[in-house]
Order: sequence, then structure tokens, then C-alpha cells
Amino acid sequence: MIIVLKPRAKESEVKAVAEKIKKMGLKPHVSMGVERTIIGAIGDESLLKEDQLKAMAVVEKVLPIMKPYKLVSREFQKENTIIKVGDVKIGTNDIIVMAGPCAVESEKQVIETAKAVKKAGGHIFRGGAFKPRTSPYSFQGMGEEGLKLLAKARNVTGMPIVTEVMDTADVPLVADYADILQVGTRNMQNFNLLKAVGKVNKPVMLKRGLAATLNEFLMAAEYIMAEGNHNVILCERGIRTFCTHTRNTLDLNIIPIIKKESHLPIIVDPSHGTGNYSLVSPMSKAAIACGADGLMIEVHSNPEEATSDGDQSLTPKSFAKLMEELRSVAKAVGRRL
Ligand code: PEP
Ligand code: MN
Repeated sequence: MIIVLKPRAKESEVKAVAEKIKKMGLKPHVSMGVERTIIGAIGDESLLKEDQLKAMAVVEKVLPIMKPYKLVSREFQKENTIIKVGDVKIGTNDIIVMAGPCAVESEKQVIETAKAVKKAGGHIFRGGAFKPRTSPYSFQGMGEEGLKLLAKARNVTGMPIVTEVMDTADVPLVADYADILQVGTRNMQNFNLLKAVGKVNKPVMLKRGLAATLNEFLMAAEYIMAEGNHNVILCERGIRTFCTHTRNTLDLNIIPIIKKESHLPIIVDPSHGTGNYSLVSPMSKAAIACGADGLMIEVHSNPEEATSDGDQSLTPKSFAKLMEELRSVAKAVGRRL
């Protein structure tokens, strides 16, 4: 249920409505917009006494929500959510590029790659220290040692870092090092993990599940927000389809749809979305053209030596070239890079 207040509602009036919602046994989420304040009532809607709320002078209307997601919806918040990570803002007119290796492998690899990403104009450095691998025999990541190397890359370049957390038990550790916590595709519906990152005071980047519908994707974000963490970045990274010509099918259709349905920023990962370095450039351009707020691109100082995803990683040189080309695409669609 969404409670729309009359324009210029006083703070005391907003508080009174929030208190009333609490008394009914639901959780109020207040969103102060430029024009008006909207309150989302979260919980068992059958407990909500609509008439009592409508009777309050400051309440303009009470809207039942047909869609299952509330906090993530445009109905709840009209303005785009802008997420601040250090000096970087995600969700504005500026295109944000996150780039770095699939996995953290060594100090040399991480620092070399981070410097190259920074030099080319990348904003956020990525790298996995805990790797979700299909095979238990594949490299599983460096763990905390990897997180320390990422922190070093941040010190050297000044770029914030994004890295995946796979396990609820590791959330405090990863949150100690990372600027953005990544929830990977395979964990999109790990509800305990979603709840755990929802309690952390750091932005979360949620990657779309391998076979997740729009509804399931947004409901997963709702899990994080319902715990109080409203700094959620969505990431389209391709889904499983019958097509075998690419690793996944990058679903760019979802970008404008999410922009309509939700106020959360969405970025596109053409590396995992295609699985092939030669497709990263065209799909990055397409992603910006269709309204994505940013990109996540795998870059490795030496892809031929990569422990994972070398085949979809760009070299520093091809990444720099791509960044240059993306600037014109961004400009052509009224964005900036
Ligand atoms: C990654 O970004 O490192 C990753 C494992 O991606 P995904 O969860 O999309 O497969
Ligand atoms: Mn990867």
C-alpha cells in the first residue's frame, strides 16, 4: 500500500502517519520527494485500516499496489535513485564504468589492470576474491588475500571497488574491504544473503539470475531494500536461453522496462552477457544507447593468462579504445562519459 500525502506536509504530520502505520503492525518507509512525501506501508496489507488513514487530514490518497514490489517501484519513488560511492555517482546522466579482472589473481595483475582501467577513464574497479565457479576443481578465488589486493588497488588508483560476496558468513568481511557488495547471478534468490546485505551500510549490486523474470529480479532487490538498505544497483548480465552462439543472451529489452518500473539504477555486463571479448564492444554501445546507467566490463592485464573468463576479457588497450568510442555513443544519446 502506498500513502500519498498532500503537498507540503509538515514533518510532524509525516511522523503521525508513519506512527499510525506502525501501530497497525506494518513498517513505514518514508520517501521525501521534491513535490510531495510518499509513505510505503510494508508488511501484511490485511492489517492496514485504509479508512483510518484516509481520515487523516494530511493524507491525499491511499493506493493499493497491484505489483508485488513496492520499495523498488517508480510508484513509490518518482525520482531516480542516485548512489554515491566515494566521488562516483551512479544513476545520474553520467555513464559509470566498472572494470577489472574476473578474478583477483596476484598483486601484479591487480595493480597493472587497475592502473590501466583508471587511465582509460574507468570509474570503479572490479575483481572477484570469492569466485562462484561451475566446477569445484576450478580456481575458487583468493579470499581475504584477494580483498587486500583490491584495497591496495583502491589506494593506488583512488577508484572505489566492487567485489562479490557469496556467503552470508562473509558479509562483514567483504563489507570491511569493498565499497560496493556484489550479489552474483547464482545467488540472486539466496534470500538469506539478500537479507544480510540489506542490513549493511554499503551499496549492493544485484546481478540478474540466470533464469530470472523481471518480477523475480525486482523482488530480489525488494528483499534488500526491505531490510533498510536502499542503495541497490541492478545489473543485467544475460540470461539462459536456447541460443548457443553466445554464453548467455544479453537481455537489453529489460533496460527501458526497468527504467519505467523502478527508480533504481541499472548497469549492463556485456562480458558475462556474451562470453566473448569481440562482442563486448558492440553490446556496450547498445547498452548505453538503450538507457543503461553504466557498464561492468572484464579487463585483464593479460587475458591469455587469466584463471577465469580470459575469453571474454578485454586487454587494457582494447578497453581504452572502447572507452573512447563509448564517449561518442553517450553523447549521441544525451549522456556523458
Ligand atoms: C562476476 O561478475 O564476477 C560474476 C561471477 O558474474 P555473474 O554472477 O553475473 O556470473
Ligand atoms: Mn567473470
